[in-house]
Amino acid sequence: MTATLTEAAEAVPPTDWDAAVDQLALLADSDATACVRRAEDLLPLAKAQRAGGAEMRLRYHAAVAHHALGEDSRALAHAVRAEHLAHERGALVWESRALARQGLVHHDLGQLEDAVDLLSRAADLRREADDTEGTADVLTILGSVYTSLPHFAPQAAGVLTQARRLWLAAGDPDRASIALANLARTFVEASRRLAVDNPRGARASARRALVLALEAVDEADAAGLSRTAVDARLTTAIAHRLAGDTASANAVLDAAQDMLRRFPSTQQLLTLHRVRADLLLESGDVAGAVTEARSGMTLCDALSRPAERMELLRVLSDGHEALGDAPAALAALRELHALTVRMGDAQAERRAALLGAKMEVEQAERQAEAERRRSEALEERNALLAHEAAHDGLTGLANRRTLDTELDRWSAERGAFTVALVDVDHFKKVNDTWSHQVGDAVLVRVADVLQRALRRGDLAARYGGEEFAVLLDGLSGPPTADVCDRLRAQVAALAWDDLMPGARLTVSIGVATRLPEEPVAALLARADAALYRAKAEGRDRIVLATG
Ligand code: GH3
Ligand code: MG
Ligand code: MG
Repeated sequence: MTATLTEAAEAVPPTDWDAAVDQLALLADSDATACVRRAEDLLPLAKAQRAGGAEMRLRYHAAVAHHALGEDSRALAHAVRAEHLAHERGALVWESRALARQGLVHHDLGQLEDAVDLLSRAADLRREADDTEGTADVLTILGSVYTSLPHFAPQAAGVLTQARRLWLAAGDPDRASIALANLARTFVEASRRLAVDNPRGARASARRALVLALEAVDEADAAGLSRTAVDARLTTAIAHRLAGDTASANAVLDAAQDMLRRFPSTQQLLTLHRVRADLLLESGDVAGAVTEARSGMTLCDALSRPAERMELLRVLSDGHEALGDAPAALAALRELHALTVRMGDAQAERRAALLGAKMEVEQAERQAEAERRRSEALEERNALLAHEAAHDGLTGLANRRTLDTELDRWSAERGAFTVALVDVDHFKKVNDTWSHQVGDAVLVRVADVLQRALRRGDLAARYGGEEFAVLLDGLSGPPTADVCDRLRAQVAALAWDDLMPGARLTVSIGVATRLPEEPVAALLARADAALYRAKAEGRDRIVLATG
């Protein structure tokens, strides 16, 4: 059966997600290991295809399978991811499923408050989705978690009553009577807990349990639900015993035993032995109680029911003690003690494993984050260094080195282009009259005018000192003269009241357009000669180089 399912799952084309997910769901129930393996194969495909809905469902079933294998941290990781995916997609029912699964894992870990919180949220989502049966299902689980908590009997009773009402509303009387039997058991549990400190309260709970259990018996009998009918009878018997009515308890147990012959269930038989042993012990038939408890212990070996085993060991130790068999009583007590420690240890171990896995993940995340920050800082620093190496520190324009590189590149890649050398007129006077600092500020402002005047693809650079170079793409003749004269005019129009009150500043510009195949040095020399002429002809002007 298992092999066939696994093979069938592997034959599914990964793009048919509905079929793949359905088969995974089957595997989760029948072969958890195969389910986990298959999910690991499919998840990367779902992610690659951006099939979020499929990923969500795959993760949910993977969580169920991991949980079945006792792999809590993986189960939780998948369930949490499924929950988030469902939330993103507004898939209320799947979100609820994923939450409920987390709740069940926490329940197994003994983290009951977390379990209650998660299951309550799961139930709310089912309600929001108008999913009556789903809500009842989740409430049933929540009820059993509340039942296992010492002080939450009213909450347990509340949610189980709701679950029953919802099953009735959904037209499912069978599930409704199961809910009723569960409800009766809640009152039984409450009664047992109260027995020592509050005997009156314990009896009241037992009577309430009895009423509910008897009703559950009637309903289950009427519906022909044999398993529930036996369950309800066992609960009835316990309720009778807790209410102090040993005779009725024995009578109901006999009836349950009769039914069990026709509808055998090892689990229920075990409970029967346990209840019978309690009754016999109470009625003084110690030897009978020990025999019953021993029969129960044999069944415990077949089933994995440590909680039941602990109950039986208690009866055994009391029984042996009453019979005067101290060594046997001590042996039972020892085993009871060992089992108590082991159960605590097993849960503590699972919690520690979960914590360890969580811490590993967090540490890996912290490391990845630190690594990311380091490489980001490094990138920033490299970018800064590269910028600094290519630009002039004072004006922010390209520096001489960049200019040289760009001139070579422009010469190689473009046909005609123009170089304008821009030199500030009488700049020495600025320094002498207003200080070197003001001179610096003036250079920054002139650079700013050049930078703003450029079109995309043009380049302004600091050529050296108070001299700038502008590379203009593809211009020659009158348009070049216009652009350069506009630069000159813009500088001449600057107001300097803040830096040099009453002063005026001009530039002279020498312009050369590259001749075919002209070397860079020759081009610059022609531009420089034109600049020299501009100075000689009176400054504040442009001069076009001759060819
Ligand atoms: P001309 O009109 O003939 O160009 O006269 P000029 O005074 O501008 O020319 P000159 O080459 O004689 O003087 C340039 C001055 O620019 C000399 C130098 O001290 C100054 N200078 C060069 N670089 C800087 C700088 O970065 N900051 C400041 N404040 N001054 C600088
Ligand atoms: Mg100058
Ligand atoms: Mg100069």
